Amino acid sequence: MVLLEVENLKTYYYTLRGPVRAVDNVSFELEKGRVLGIAGESGCGKSTLAWSILGLVPPPGRIVSGSIVLDGIDIVKLSEDELRSKIRWKKVSMIFQGAMNSLNPVYTAGAQIEEVLIYHGRMSKADARRRVYELLESVGLDRSLANRYPHELSGGQKQRVVIAMALALEPDIVIADEPTTALDVVVQAQILNLMKKLQREKGISIILITHDLSVIAEMADEVAIMYAGKIVEYGSSEQIFYKPRHPYTHLLMKAVPKLKGVKESLIYIPGQPPDLMNPPKGCRFKPRCPWAMDICDKDPEEFNLEEGRRVACWLEKTSGGLKVKS
Ligand code: SF4
Repeated sequence: MVLLEVENLKTYYYTLRGPVRAVDNVSFELEKGRVLGIAGESGCGKSTLAWSILGLVPPPGRIVSGSIVLDGIDIVKLSEDELRSKIRWKKVSMIFQGAMNSLNPVYTAGAQIEEVLIYHGRMSKADARRRVYELLESVGLDRSLANRYPHELSGGQKQRVVIAMALALEPDIVIADEPTTALDVVVQAQILNLMKKLQREKGISIILITHDLSVIAEMADEVAIMYAGKIVEYGSSEQIFYKPRHPYTHLLMKAVPKLKGVKESLIYIPGQPPDLMNPPKGCRFKPRCPWAMDICDKDPEEFNLEEGRRVACWLEKTSGGLKVKS
């Protein structure tokens, strides 16, 4: 069952030098109970996409066109009041990037979760406190932590509090923006396992945004690879990791260090992502693409390869796809 349908979404930041096309014609679907991983380098528009879904694009940004249909409602057409009362926290919540610093240092962990329950869930103070205890226990924390301030919690505990807050009103979708950045690998594994457990138990859908492909491999059912504001490849986790069809995806996979097998020099993608105020004509990856051709000066068409699998690259038309050993 499709829960969220994003179609031809464009979100731009209007600066004095011109518009920055941070999200440019992005479409995807999210099914109930599935995890969609969105991967790409920093600055490719992943976080702006997440803010668009919550109606939280900071000025001077705004959604220019397209639709974001959640449960039959186009969020783009809702007013700020409607977004606040019907969508945020209740239908979609977010674990923000740098969540460890997103807790308010002058309120206890419990008070911050309570605030969501009282102001957005219209609960009484007593019911909210009971629910805080339930939520803390559901993320593996002792209820006594409700009375601690953020500086009294470890990094992993703070992250669990933020996850508890995101789950407070039982949303259908949780957007997790770099949920494990700045955590050591042991805590990172604990948090990912916790998210998987909660996702299975509660049947929520997750949009997982990260530049860390190992996190995507661990969690995601479907993967969207973003480059310079566009989704350049989309498919199941197996398809993307074992048989990438876009040169950018292929090079990203090659850049991941391998623990087993013969030691090889690390591969990197030369150059930088383009300035989204003046992106290159045609394919935005062309200046960095070893397979670039003359036709790449035109916007690549999107090729549907099989059910749920698509790629935007001219190689599909000119030579039947990328031919490399993955
Ligand atoms: Fe490379 Fe051309 Fe494909 Fe872009 S469209 S990724 S430049 S081959």
